[in-house]
Amino acid sequence: MNFPNLGGQNQWYPFMDRPLPEQVDGVMQNPAVVPLHNVDPLPASATYVVVGAGIHGMSTAYHLAMALEKSGKGKGSDVVLIDKQGPGAGATGLACGCVRNLYMTGPLHSILRASVEVWESDPVNFGFQQVGYVSIGEENQTEDYIKLNQSQIDSGYPSDLYTGDDAHRFLTSLWPDFKTDKCDVVLHEHRSGYAGTHMVMWGLDQKCRQWGVQRVYGVEVTGYEMSSGSGGGGVGGGSVTGVATSAGTIKCDQVVVGAGAWTPRHWEWLGGPNVLDIVYPDSHVANDHAMWTYWRLLEGEVWMPPGVDYRTADGKDAPVLHVELMNTPVYGDDGEMIQDHVYTYTRYAAERVGAPGLQGGTIPIPIGDSAQVEPYGHLSDAYQADDWFPEYYCKTLGMLFKRFENLEPYFKERRNGGIGAFTPDNVPIFDHVADNAFVIADSNHGFKMIGVGKLTANMLVDGTKPWELEPFNFARFADGTTFGDRNSNCPWV
Ligand SMILES: Cc1cc2nc3c(=O)[nH]c(=O)nc-3n(C[C@H](O)[C@H](O)[C@H](O)COP(=O)(O)OP(=O)(O)OC[C@H]3O[C@@H](n4cnc5c(N)ncnc54)[C@H](O)[C@@H]3O)c2cc1C
Repeated sequence: MNFPNLGGQNQWYPFMDRPLPEQVDGVMQNPAVVPLHNVDPLPASATYVVVGAGIHGMSTAYHLAMALEKSGKGKGSDVVLIDKQGPGAGATGLACGCVRNLYMTGPLHSILRASVEVWESDPVNFGFQQVGYVSIGEENQTEDYIKLNQSQIDSGYPSDLYTGDDAHRFLTSLWPDFKTDKCDVVLHEHRSGYAGTHMVMWGLDQKCRQWGVQRVYGVEVTGYEMSSGSGGGGVGGGSVTGVATSAGTIKCDQVVVGAGAWTPRHWEWLGGPNVLDIVYPDSHVANDHAMWTYWRLLEGEVWMPPGVDYRTADGKDAPVLHVELMNTPVYGDDGEMIQDHVYTYTRYAAERVGAPGLQGGTIPIPIGDSAQVEPYGHLSDAYQADDWFPEYYCKTLGMLFKRFENLEPYFKERRNGGIGAFTPDNVPIFDHVADNAFVIADSNHGFKMIGVGKLTANMLVDGTKPWELEPFNFARFADGTTFGDRNSNCPWV
């Protein structure tokens, strides 16, 4: 099989019989990250069809099947989960796996509280390491941190805030070699951490099997059969009567779509708009704004140099680290500025690197309102990290830790790309597009948001939309509650 593997590394860990990429119409397909066992054929009909076996589709299918069985309102087999490849073939399988609540968009704090409850429900089978999350800013972000610390506490997600000398003391108590001079404000989230992206796909797939979900992998959705609908509140106004696939049509009552970077295509099929006028809280309007913008992520991995670890002073697995120094440039060995700011996130990633190591990244880069989604992820020639990224990433860590001052030789030369479809305000949309078709569009930062599937399942079983999901409706763009409260170089705030 001829697939890109530039550094000759094992790209297909950790499950030995993970499928290899296949070709559809001459285009390589990013495969599932777990072996596919006991896959079901497409039935002719089902009460619920969930499209996409990423974090959102799988979490929805699992929680829905479990809730139906436990409430007696249905059976796990009422749920059909469809993916053109299988678990983790989209962004979920290659994400960095960071689970944090560092958002200036307050309503996300409750989404993360609901999500960490799911991560905590089975940390072993979800590969969840609750090591905490430490984020650092300069003086210009202090007010934002104070606000978000309070909002996190109010939403049941405890965090500690440190400023000035307290911030320096806290950082050096964790990592004695930390260089604190630019660090004016620090937030420590206790319930956050990271998860193994392949492990959680394996765990969710097993849970779907246990609760009787019909798991249909290797079948592509090609469209939705629509009726004119009841006017029940979907963005597009229609109603889905069936899902058209490469294996025939499946009739259904309810659809949930968790299609990651493929969301724009499903959105259009379901009758959602391609452009829209956006009203902001200060009343200014952006006319004819593209509904979706694709961005590409810049990430990489680095082995631990001999004798170096990423542990705290007391020998523990260290918190995920997130640093944004908006006024501090990063220079290369040649003295040239690589970027005029520090933005770096890093987590311990032995399960990813294949040896003790780190995985992390920086701010994504916009592509535009169209992108070449296939082949996806590491298979794409078009959307891998730029040449400047390895030096930038290693230099940012060297600026922060004495122990990481010479990381460049240990950067792992392998592909790490991935793209996502972002919403107009870069905040998720969790809403009905058709009357009976709910779309989970996380604006490509929702690996951590495993609880959205549980909230969606509750909505389908109880008939009421949970309050946590309400702020993420599509109507916000018209009614002036568009999000935009941010002070960062990064779109994910
Ligand atoms: C490089 C990278 C790093 C990231 N790091 C983080 C991080 O650290 N923390 C975080 O919270 N988020 C992170 N994200 C974002 C996160 O990975 C995504 O937001 C999240 O995984 C999206 O999940 P999903 O279920 O919506 O979609 P996906 O995981 O993309 O799954 C969509 C699935 O739908 C299937 N599909 C699509 N179209 C069809 C069709 N027509 N028929 C059948 N199946 C179809 C695909 O095969 C795919 O399996 C990262 C993203 C990238 C790209």
